[in-house]
Amino acid sequence: MESKLGSRLPDYEVIKPLGRGAYSYVYHVKYRSTSQEFALKIIEKQVVVQKNLTNRLLNEIKLQKRLNHPCIVKFYHSFEDEDCIYLVLEYCAGGELFSYIKSEGRLSEDETRMLCSQLVDGIDYLHNRGILHRDLKLGNLLLSEDRTLLKIGDFGLAVKLSNYSEERSTLCGTPNYISPEVVNRQPYGLAADLWSLGCIVYGCLTGNPPFESPDIQTTLLKIKDMSYSLPNYLSDDAETLIRSLLSWNPDERLSIQDVKNQPFFKSQFFSTLDTRTLQSPT
Ligand code: ATP
Repeated sequence: MESKLGSRLPDYEVIKPLGRGAYSYVYHVKYRSTSQEFALKIIEKQVVVQKNLTNRLLNEIKLQKRLNHPCIVKFYHSFEDEDCIYLVLEYCAGGELFSYIKSEGRLSEDETRMLCSQLVDGIDYLHNRGILHRDLKLGNLLLSEDRTLLKIGDFGLAVKLSNYSEERSTLCGTPNYISPEVVNRQPYGLAADLWSLGCIVYGCLTGNPPFESPDIQTTLLKIKDMSYSLPNYLSDDAETLIRSLLSWNPDERLSIQDVKNQPFFKSQFFSTLDTRTLQSPT
């Protein structure tokens, strides 16, 4: 892929590869005429056809291009050539929150509060627009170079609901983060993202998501049985937040507004985040 990029993308200088996803290659690039840096996600058309990804990709582009929030990876534009589709995205130099936690072991409550309050702000923005992300996980949260700014990425599974109480039933998401109603193939709505938020907060504070197991079947069984433990080093506020998010019944789970009022986030000031950006748009 890399050797052909120069001739395919004369307007961009490829700085370095950032990684590969299941269906994509991602590069750190510089737009030559403005020197602005981006993450360029490249998807081969052949793969889109083979894996039946057309709808997923069109959905990702349609949804993400309309979003504009400091806690969401900015989608600038997309283009295509004969072989590939290219998505030009905001570059997040700090990489995935998942990798950061793996390198640190686990995060302090202060750092978790600082990062997760941005995640809460981003989810609030999405849910206010009736958008259910459906794949919130440590690997889909990207960081600024100094790891103080967090951005929600990967909108491949996101859906726009026609109203706040609409429910979906497709089984999708990443096993470690999916809610019992999704596992049980029950209709689910915005509360499914709140369950994932609980798994992410737990993952930040302990190093691993709560239902992690060597195999997927065991993970799904643990979710159905609500089988997880809270380490004794967690504060009461952290424990209460996690328990209230990992509520089996989606109707009893905290809403995103409730989360903002939780004592764990008490010192975090939410709406000022609107003034922060990693880089200004072209
Ligand atoms: P999957 O395709 O299974 O969801 P993934 O999320 O790792 O896996 P991609 O989203 O294609 O797949 O990302 C591939 C790699 O590129 C990841 O390591 C990710 O951290 C990195 N990456 C993706 N988007 C950006 C971005 N905007 N800024 C910086 N790095 C990014």
